[in-house]
Amino acid sequence: MNFADLGLSDELLQAVETAGYSEPTPIQAQAIPPVLMMKDLIGIAQTGTGKTASFVLPMIDILAHGRRRALMPRSLILEPTRELAAQVAENFEKYGKNHDLKMALLIGGVQMGDQLKALSSGVDVLIATPGRLMDLFERGKIMLTGCELLVIDEADRMLDMGFIPDIETICSKLPTTRQTLLFSATMPPVIKKLADRFLTNPKYIEVARPATANTNIVQHKVAVQSRKKREVLRDLLRTDNVSTAIVFANRKTTVRELAKSLKQHGFAAGEIHGDMDQPARLAELQRFKDGAVNILVASDVAARGLDVKGVSHVFNFDTPWHPDDYVHRIGRTGRGGASGRAFTFVTPEDAEAIDNVEKLTGGKIPVYQMADEEAPEAPAREEKPRREKRERSSAREERPAREERPVREERVASEERVASEERAPVREERPAREDRAPRRESRGEEQRRERRSDGNRSRRRDQEPADDGWNGPIPEFLHVSALA
Ligand code: ADP
Ligand code: MG
Repeated sequence: MNFADLGLSDELLQAVETAGYSEPTPIQAQAIPPVLMMKDLIGIAQTGTGKTASFVLPMIDILAHGRRRALMPRSLILEPTRELAAQVAENFEKYGKNHDLKMALLIGGVQMGDQLKALSSGVDVLIATPGRLMDLFERGKIMLTGCELLVIDEADRMLDMGFIPDIETICSKLPTTRQTLLFSATMPPVIKKLADRFLTNPKYIEVARPATANTNIVQHKVAVQSRKKREVLRDLLRTDNVSTAIVFANRKTTVRELAKSLKQHGFAAGEIHGDMDQPARLAELQRFKDGAVNILVASDVAARGLDVKGVSHVFNFDTPWHPDDYVHRIGRTGRGGASGRAFTFVTPEDAEAIDNVEKLTGGKIPVYQMADEEAPEAPAREEKPRREKRERSSAREERPAREERPVREERVASEERVASEERAPVREERPAREDRAPRRESRGEEQRRERRSDGNRSRRRDQEPADDGWNGPIPEFLHVSALA
């Protein structure tokens, strides 16, 4: 399959060639033709499979004809975070360089002056986070009645972040005759409902199973005692053919201390976390992209949407508290068809966390045996998580408490077994996402964020201040107004 077979214009094919893509990814190959035919579409494919270009490319050709009008964007792309929004903008720049298209980016944490100016003189593409868009809409600064193409990108992440009500409102402001595209890594029931309501006779494309079906990533877990983690990490960094690595830790302090320790041991390490201001973070990310450092120690704020090419390794210095974070973290490697390796450190205290990860990803992660160790044992499921662990991650109150769940079914007496089977769904099913409060807030990292109570969940209006700050690329057209 070739890009030239998909019906794209010659100008676009040229831009794609310049970008260095030789072949469309499966989602691109399947999505581009129906999008060009102006069909509604649901595209389900795991992280890192090239969903962005599967809508950006055909959109450029669709928008090549038609006129811009003041205050009325011709198309709208909704993204859950500003990093992702900026990456999409970057894609438009890259592929749209042979076209006369104007865009505006409405995201939190960025001065809006120039973007509003652009909007008022007319744009072909508006890329926005739902919260910021709603604010502007409510202030009458924007009209959506001329918007004939809508993309809801990363829909499952939107759900995680409590953006579905905003998206419903936005959808109802757009003309009903529009074309609507929805992309997601997974298709939870709420997203299915959203699609049923706002898409018309959509073409449904699903490429590979969601979550971690990315076979380009070789995953391992490493059983390790807390106090040995740094040593084991250094060992792996030295012996596992690491060219570039992102090392994830659960806490900002760990990120800082670990980066410092790695540097002291002679590694070229940088760090990215929520306590750094945006210019510092950007500078650090750039050093990593340029190769000035080849190891980036990061907290989860950097995990989502971070697109750095050719990361050979991801290390989870801490088992992530929430299984979804695991998928997003390891998704930083094995991108665009390259292969990658992901190591997850598991201490005895992480038994429950790793268990949840394996439930989500649908299989046991193979244990990696360090060369100089006698067969380390994977932490046994039976081990009770320590009390402090739960308190530390009080963020996770919404998860089914471990105490309520049957432990070691094989040992329960038969009456108890009946009871435990009745309760089984509690254990097997992940709580429906809409019932979970946006998780990262409670991590204490993002508490300053503006929140609004909405039924039984809180939600955030946008990715405002410091903590979920910018760590993606800066599109050129933003160079003045962004990141002041
Ligand atoms: P998704 O939205 O599915 O998570 P992205 O659109 O962010 O994935 O793409 C993931 C990575 O794959 C990016 O680095 C992108 O540049 C790269 N990529 C996209 N399309 C291709 C292609 N056809 N060939 C090679 N790499 C690609
Ligand atoms: Mg994407």
